[in-house]
Amino acid sequence: MKELPGGSKDHQLTVALRIRPMNEAELEEGATVVAKRVDDQMVVLMDPCEDSENHLRANRSREKTYMFDVAFDQKAQQEEVYEATTKNLIEGVISGYNATVFAYGPTGAGKTYTMLGVDSEPGIYVRTLNDLFKAIEASRDDMDCCVFMSYLEIYNEVIRDLLNPSSGYLDLREDAKGEIRIAGITEFSTSNAKEIMALLTKGNKQRTQEPTAANKTSSRSHAILQVTVKQKNRIKDVSEEVRMGKLFMVDLAGTERASQTQNRGKRMKEGAHINRSLLALANCINALSEKAGKGSQFVNYRDSKLTRLLKDALGGNSRTVMIAHISPASTNFEESRNTLLYADKAKNIRTKVKRNLLNVNYHLAQYTSIIADLRKEIDRL
Ligand code: ADP
Ligand code: MG
Repeated sequence: MKELPGGSKDHQLTVALRIRPMNEAELEEGATVVAKRVDDQMVVLMDPCEDSENHLRANRSREKTYMFDVAFDQKAQQEEVYEATTKNLIEGVISGYNATVFAYGPTGAGKTYTMLGVDSEPGIYVRTLNDLFKAIEASRDDMDCCVFMSYLEIYNEVIRDLLNPSSGYLDLREDAKGEIRIAGITEFSTSNAKEIMALLTKGNKQRTQEPTAANKTSSRSHAILQVTVKQKNRIKDVSEEVRMGKLFMVDLAGTERASQTQNRGKRMKEGAHINRSLLALANCINALSEKAGKGSQFVNYRDSKLTRLLKDALGGNSRTVMIAHISPASTNFEESRNTLLYADKAKNIRTKVKRNLLNVNYHLAQYTSIIADLRKEIDRL
């Protein structure tokens, strides 16, 4: 790391776009491909129109291109997506920087596939943790290190512990330094990759998934894997500092509009809540991207649990990567256009990254002086 300890540095949000393969349902309904990767940074979306047989066809005369930091199509392997988006955040997290990776896009576009993946093709969660443990192992001679994981969901503006679902609803609390914490969340410590995948897969089954008309396994909750790494130099003379890096890996609920899923009753209420969190996220993205231009836009993080938790990720101290997901199909054109629009806006967001150092000597000095003061008080009595 080149930055000086304590100094902060501007960071621009990294935005990646992933187009998943066509699925059977899309092929069966006669959908055509309207979203394509042009090169490693560019994608094109063609506005579909109906042909003489009422099939939607891509209209080349009405196409729009978008540029991202990196673009993937159906050929991209999980390893490739991980390497281009997340791998290079690890070194920073170990040396005390915060980082966030979040998957954005409508239901069925591939968010959970990218983040969790499947046993044969694990996603970003497991690959990141594997590399994190390898890096820690390599620095073992000089550094003492501990890693804690928490896995939670936000559903209907309520937080649940996915590693301990019986613990009920959890509260967000702000500490004295203004940092957001989740009271009572399980912090799990392990370095065994298989155990982690089993834990996350089990946790994922605890996610609130209820069928909607749009997608049977639609995920209406936001899942957040939080990894905290604390590191301290073994050689006492070198430094008494503890570095603390936090990594958030977020699998958002589907960004599709409630109307499209024909939500009614309970679904409708969920939709409203999901829209509240996602609306708050969209508002933050809008305000932050405008702020980058004007420099004076108010950003309201307090509107939802999601934006309170992601405050640092969006506008504070974090290196942040957004992976936007779309389907290639003409039948999902509107959702793809909407997703591309927000991903495009998110490119303007800037954060300020700063190493988190907890100086043990400083705290000790503080305690010593407090104790000395107390002693004086007692002597006076
Ligand atoms: P989301 O989490 O965005 O709702 P999923 O990740 O559950 O969507 O993906 C929907 C379906 O498509 C799943 O069956 C998933 O395995 C499959 N899928 C998504 N992306 C890919 C991909 N890049 N390659 C292969 N299958 C994919
Ligand atoms: Mg999902």
